[in-house]
Amino acid sequence: MGWFGRRSKTPPVPAQWYITRRCLELILASSQSSFPKEFGALLRVDEEEKTTITEVVLLPGTISGNSHAIFKLYMLPIDYSVVGTVHSHPSSIARPSEADLDLFGHFGRVHLIVGVSPWGQSSWRAYDHEGRPLDVKII
Ligand SMILES: [Zn+2]
Repeated sequence: MGWFGRRSKTPPVPAQWYITRRCLELILASSQSSFPKEFGALLRVDEEEKTTITEVVLLPGTISGNSHAIFKLYMLPIDYSVVGTVHSHPSSIARPSEADLDLFGHFGRVHLIVGVSPWGQSSWRAYDHEGRPLDVKII
């Protein structure tokens, strides 16, 4: 068994992810208005290319909270246009926690974390299913 014999449960990752400016602005505004609680949602891509994040989908029954337990896996829709998650860190640090890495490993291929500071500044980063940084271009 060489390298090419390896099997992965996750589909191949597109060469490049994109997000529309409108969608990103909505995410940042929602993250800031949820502060000091977390904001969480799913990411949906466009119908054709399936590489541009165009929409956030709020999970039914999801409320913003103080823990990372806002994503309940049984609530995740069977919808192949949903490619990952976004949530905010009121700690202002946009780095995945252990719980985040566990979530990323179970679901999705692209995950955004928004760090929000008490001063209303926000920064965001994107990660793959193993918590490695991903480049997501704003279009
Ligand atoms: Zn987190």
